[in-house]
Amino acid sequence: HVRVRFAPSPTGYLHVGGARTALYNYLYAKKNKGEFILRIEDTDEARSTQESLRGVVDDMVWLNLLWDEGVDPVTLKDVGPNGPYRQSERQAIYKEIAEKFLNEGKAYYCFLTDAEIEAQREAAIKAGRPPQITSPYQDWTLEQAKEKLAAGEKAVVRFKTRHLKKDYIFTDHVRGEVKFPSDMVGDFVILRSGGMPVYNFCCVVDDHLMKITHVFRAEEHLPNTLRQLMIYEAMGWQAPEFGHMALILDEDRQKLSKRKGAVACGQLKDEGYLPSAVLNFIALLGWSHPEGKEILTVDEMIQAFDISRLNSAGAIFDRVKFKWMNAQHLRALSNKDLWNAIQPFLAREKMELPQDPAWQEQSVAVFKTSMETLVDAIELYKPLNDKSYVVLPESEETLKWEPTKAVLTAWRDLVKAHPSDYMTEAEFLKIQDEVKNATGAKGKNLFMPIRVAVIGKPHGTELKILVPLIKKSSLIARAEEALA
Ligand code: GLU
Repeated sequence: HVRVRFAPSPTGYLHVGGARTALYNYLYAKKNKGEFILRIEDTDEARSTQESLRGVVDDMVWLNLLWDEGVDPVTLKDVGPNGPYRQSERQAIYKEIAEKFLNEGKAYYCFLTDAEIEAQREAAIKAGRPPQITSPYQDWTLEQAKEKLAAGEKAVVRFKTRHLKKDYIFTDHVRGEVKFPSDMVGDFVILRSGGMPVYNFCCVVDDHLMKITHVFRAEEHLPNTLRQLMIYEAMGWQAPEFGHMALILDEDRQKLSKRKGAVACGQLKDEGYLPSAVLNFIALLGWSHPEGKEILTVDEMIQAFDISRLNSAGAIFDRVKFKWMNAQHLRALSNKDLWNAIQPFLAREKMELPQDPAWQEQSVAVFKTSMETLVDAIELYKPLNDKSYVVLPESEETLKWEPTKAVLTAWRDLVKAHPSDYMTEAEFLKIQDEVKNATGAKGKNLFMPIRVAVIGKPHGTELKILVPLIKKSSLIARAEEALA
């Protein structure tokens, strides 16, 4: 029975790499009818914040990557039978296991000071050895150590690795067979001097107690897996299966950074990306559909998801492609859904647009194919917003032309004479023809003044698209303003 988890540290925002990890775990759980758990790795007290946790949870909800066990998305309290799911609330559990290691001689109190550790590291580097420390306290008895502790000295707890002397081998779902010699790591800390446990230790304890079967996470955790395998072994626990996902790279093959553009999910949301497009795009950063399909819904991803198709080469975050993909997802929305999706963006400009649902859907249908992101709606809708109509300086030239005044006047009068609130495209073209017949103006002498009368400038979206979406009374008011 598959159980997977996403285990963010709430020390920042959810970025696309984290979202991809969450997505792959989610897809694997759904594909196998298993459970997806959200565990909060907040043992780094100095860096973990409630705001960050709130943000990560909100972004996961926005992406619709909902979990079966973890913290409640609203209250952030624990929900599920294998909690608590916040490591900060699991201290007693870690402490008990650390005690067990200490009693069994698998771990020891180490009193090395920072300066002593630094000196050992430097000496090792100078001698060309890996920068590991050798603690003289590894041979102390627990009684000796406890005396020193009782005297008020501070100690960390280190896990003993010296005696292990073997290769740790496991089959990674992405990278195939991975082999690590035990001496790749020295005795590592499992409890800090304040008693706070560290990631590698908590991770193993929690993955075991939460019955996690598969761990899919970023490649940067590969060296941690060695430490974790040592802990599993020391506990006599079976380790889960692992898959370490390749890095996401910028277009120039560097590690993805925010210098090149948004990498935070919250920022992508602000920039008008749809959650479905974000999921589609990140799904293909390291995984591919067996038939090479590119535009995918989450259901299609679940159907086709197969971890044997995870790619071990770094995936390029191609922003041009991402935008294109977002456009495809925008077009796939119903007019009603797209209208709702653009509301927060139109609200940024405080636009006052008609309340009539028929108008709303008609306008969306017209603009749909011109949008790549939801932000694009702002510029597209501006000409429809009466409050944003102004005769722009770039219209001055057109306004000076000899036939302009006659064209504007004829236009205004013909619009006034139009029998209904809105005109169709055909009615607009007919009126435009009538203006031409009445004034003798043609070509740009005809089109550009009318454009100024409708959108305040001589260039822009085609009028036959815009005019049917603007109310007669507004067209008249705008024409008056252009004439004034
Ligand atoms: N808290 C770790 C991180 O955010 C989790 C790593 C893991 O999945 O084991 O990178």
